[in-house]
Amino acid sequence: MQDHAKTILCRHATGTHPPPAPTYRPLSSLQVLSSTTAPPNYDPNMEAFISLGKEEAMVLSEQWINSLIIKVIGKSFSVEYLKTTLQRIWKTNHQIRFIALGRGFYNISVPNEEVREHILSQGPWFIASYMLIVQPWMPGFIPSQAIISKAPVWISLPELPIEFHSLPMFQRIASEIGTFIKTDTKALEQNRVRFARIQVLLDLAKKRKEAIWLGAFKQPIYYEEIPHFCTHCQSIGHRSERCPQKPVDKGETEDGAEEENT
Ligand SMILES: [Zn+2]
Repeated sequence: MQDHAKTILCRHATGTHPPPAPTYRPLSSLQVLSSTTAPPNYDPNMEAFISLGKEEAMVLSEQWINSLIIKVIGKSFSVEYLKTTLQRIWKTNHQIRFIALGRGFYNISVPNEEVREHILSQGPWFIASYMLIVQPWMPGFIPSQAIISKAPVWISLPELPIEFHSLPMFQRIASEIGTFIKTDTKALEQNRVRFARIQVLLDLAKKRKEAIWLGAFKQPIYYEEIPHFCTHCQSIGHRSERCPQKPVDKGETEDGAEEENT
């Protein structure tokens, strides 16, 4: 199977904000933009400062809050090709507006919430076998500083006792592992109740938890199809030893292989 990944994380918005529901609006991260006082390291001789209150930051962000940021990993395509391909694979006749952000990133505006949810929750998406990463827009996004380290991953909780089978509990469990996206609805039905599956947004740069304690009960966590993550260039889609940004050196191949052997 090929890697799948859909998330870009911006350094300016790494604050964790627990998700109350499968919502993708980064409301709390809007504070990233607002500041009414100059920072302590502000140099008035060399720099200027414009005060930006929360309300104003909200107004500035409003038209972008439902947009998405995308990037094809490992290949550049023309905007026209991307447009037609994405409309086809996302099965939408609506116009998708593209804005190039640089470094292969695009901001795209989708026609409605239904299409947006479909794009974010389904997938992984590929364009001519190249992986497409998709994530909700975030304020303060800077392409050159974007770290691509989060991807949606299915986790399963084998033989999770029946009393823990509820959406709120699944959300609590997911938030300890990553960010809750959705649950396999069949897992909540009576006949498949012993097999709980949850899709979480997992930070691949972090060490994975192998189990979770639910009070006094220890539950193992299984991960399905974890995409490769390169620790060298901090992006999803290839192993470190195959990093295109790494100078090829025969003597180095063994050094770069250590973190993928999980
Ligand atoms: Zn790399």
